[in-house]
Amino acid sequence: MDDCIFCKIVSGELPSTRVHEDARAIAIMDINPATRGHVLVIPREHADDIHEVSDADLGHCAVVAKQLARAAMVGLDATGVTIMQSNGASAWQTVFHYHVHVIPRYDDDPLVLPWKPAPGDLEEIADISRAYFQD
Ligand code: AMP
Ligand code: ZN
Repeated sequence: MDDCIFCKIVSGELPSTRVHEDARAIAIMDINPATRGHVLVIPREHADDIHEVSDADLGHCAVVAKQLARAAMVGLDATGVTIMQSNGASAWQTVFHYHVHVIPRYDDDPLVLPWKPAPGDLEEIADISRAYFQD
């Protein structure tokens, strides 16, 4: 993908601060960190989003994210970790090369839950659930 910034970071054409690399994926420091230590896990092979990424890359990125989450707890004294992954502009995706955010959390960090939990209508919830049934 010629105009994909993450493909360029993977190839080394664009600079990044790498914290992990292996045959399938790299992980880099996010240049707009949500919290101290925010990193991104990026498969080497381009896929726009979760709908395109191979199951092998998806699974591998999850494993790398787990390792980085542990490193954030141990090395940065994080008290929690938020794993975030966005698909589509309406879901806040801004770079259209699949990636997983690993965001170390701290008791006094500025992040807030982006929705207000409130009970939904139980009949409507049951009705909507049918869309997820797999044959
Ligand atoms: P998303 O908005 O979920 O698609 O995440 C894209 C992330 O990539 C954002 O958190 C950006 O700060 C980050 N980002 C964009 N360009 C770079 C770059 N050159 N190096 C590191 N992180 C980047
Ligand atoms: Zn790409």
